[in-house]
Amino acid sequence: MVTKKILLPESENPKQWYNIVADMPNKPLPPLDPKTRKPMSVDDLSVIFARELAEQELSTERYIDIPEEVQDIFRIWRNTPLVRAHGLERMLQTPAKIYFKNESVSPSGSHKTNSAVPQAYYNKMQGIKRLTTETGAGQWGSAISMAGKHFGIDVDVYMVKVSCEQKPYRRMMMKTWGANVYPSPTNMTDAGRAILAKDPDCTGSLGIAISEAVEMALKNQHDTRYCLGSSLNHVLLHQTIIGEECLKQLEMTGDYPDVVIGCFGGGSNFAGITFPFLRENFTKGRKTRFVAVEPESCPKLTRGEFQYDYADTIGLTPLLPMYTLGHNFHPASIHAGGLRYHGAGSIVSQLLKDGYIEAADMPQVECIKSGILFSQAEGIIPAPESTHAIAYAIREALKCKEEGTSKTILFNLSGHGMVDMFAYEQYFAGNLRNYEVSDEEIAKNIAELDKLL
Ligand SMILES: *Cc1c(COP(=O)(O)O)cnc(C)c1O
Repeated sequence: MVTKKILLPESENPKQWYNIVADMPNKPLPPLDPKTRKPMSVDDLSVIFARELAEQELSTERYIDIPEEVQDIFRIWRNTPLVRAHGLERMLQTPAKIYFKNESVSPSGSHKTNSAVPQAYYNKMQGIKRLTTETGAGQWGSAISMAGKHFGIDVDVYMVKVSCEQKPYRRMMMKTWGANVYPSPTNMTDAGRAILAKDPDCTGSLGIAISEAVEMALKNQHDTRYCLGSSLNHVLLHQTIIGEECLKQLEMTGDYPDVVIGCFGGGSNFAGITFPFLRENFTKGRKTRFVAVEPESCPKLTRGEFQYDYADTIGLTPLLPMYTLGHNFHPASIHAGGLRYHGAGSIVSQLLKDGYIEAADMPQVECIKSGILFSQAEGIIPAPESTHAIAYAIREALKCKEEGTSKTILFNLSGHGMVDMFAYEQYFAGNLRNYEVSDEEIAKNIAELDKLL
């Protein structure tokens, strides 16, 4: 019998997160205060985030313990299966071995719960009563709603109004887990009121939703903090549980990956699966390649510039060092909503700049086609975001077939697509198309940045 799913006994679940900063030859540059443009301290960051998370954001400790209470909740779905994609291998007739880590088995259907649970926990421990956050496609919003409920902390989600209307089921998931969901722009904040005064029919944007969530946290300092589901160093740290499990699971197979692939929005699921393997490259001389796959319509890693930029479109957040297309860049409305973000996390950006990881961009139609192939071969319907990793893995597997080599390919299945069937519907209706970005458009938005580097 061939083993399909490799699972660890729960007693083997990782008890520490891995902080790659400890092993990086060049450390990530610090976040800067948007007003003074001076490096921010833990105290500065604690105004907006829970203190423990602010400490993790700037930490250089190699390993950080996962609190027992967080490990307890993780056991609802962790460890997640490492799956040998025999079906896909057969369908492609490739000599390559393909594995994927199935993060779609979490309660909210994606890897985002891996950071939502510790974020809710640290806020609760500090006595915080309410979390504010924004969500676009709704993946992060639903993860933090589930996590908040576990620790008895209220969650206010500012959801981009147009997504709220287009994704009613994600909104229902958040409500089911007890969160308050506000279609943004609202008339509850100065930021929202200002926008509505100018444009009463405004359908919202992630930038506006961030501004509203941050404003509410800052106005209610005594019991409220803001939280974010991607990009930041502490979020990447939490996701390393994926790769730590995967290293142990692969050990049970005797295989080791030649290439590890993750789709890329802000960098959290990519970092999660790759950083523990990158540690093996840094410390044990392994030669694994790491590929971050972004949509061709939002190509910050392959065509952006390494600069300080804001995380939001309005310029309220700290200035972070990142590969960016400029915070005014407006990506086409592709179905992989979680990959429509102008910038990349600081750590991943530094690693790319220093040549330790690679980046590739993929057109949307090839991605959805690959997602359909994967569904038919392996049974799981992937999130539109995850199809980017699948599409690149398929390209690698076909290259192996051409060259007659048998590589071991590992990718992260960041989530399932059961609440994103609209993307598939559009494909079958023949309405899905690719969006290329012109050099002029990229140059124009990058030219608007204050060059601090
Ligand atoms: C949010 C999301 C992403 C992109 O975010 P990263 O921080 O880059 O991982 C990818 N896949 C799924 C399923 C998501 O929900």
